[in-house]
Amino acid sequence: MTLLGDAIHPMPPTAGAGAGTAVVDAVHLAGDLAALPPAAALRRYQRRILGYAPRAVAAAVPALTWQRRLGYPVVRALAGAVALPLAGVVVRAQASRLSTRDAKTTVLSE
Ligand SMILES: Cc1cc2nc3c(=O)[nH]c(=O)nc-3n(C[C@H](O)[C@H](O)[C@H](O)COP(=O)(O)OP(=O)(O)OC[C@H]3O[C@@H](n4cnc5c(N)ncnc54)[C@H](O)[C@@H]3O)c2cc1C
Repeated sequence: MTLLGDAIHPMPPTAGAGAGTAVVDAVHLAGDLAALPPAAALRRYQRRILGYAPRAVAAAVPALTWQRRLGYPVVRALAGAVALPLAGVVVRAQASRLSTRDAKTTVLSE
């Protein structure tokens, strides 16, 4: 018996990688079963999963932790009143800097 997808590596939705990782599992499992006798195929498949799935799950966890924190009213209020407006200022400043740089590059290359 073997497992794939969320059954073996339950994936938080925060990385948007759960479906893709499940499909990768399926492709590896099908390929290994086509190439090797069943017992060897399952061993190879299970070794492969250990190479990428724990990292994919770990990458999704920090965003999940932040999503949980935003469940607290005080953190949510602070994020809405301070962090989001501040992030907006930073993003607008970056966008303005980049568009100025692009405009200069266009003028220079003409
Ligand atoms: C809110 C949310 C948002 C997500 N957003 C994304 C995203 O944007 N991008 C992304 O890549 N991933 C996302 N994911 C994760 C993704 O949905 C899962 O990682 C992925 O669906 C796992 O696929 P799976 O085939 O392993 O399991 P599942 O998709 O859960 O499939 C298992 C199937 O088995 C069936 N089943 C269960 N028990 C039995 C039984 N006893 N007999 C018969 N059938 C059974 C279930 O009904 C289900 O249809 C999200 C998850 C959630 C919860």
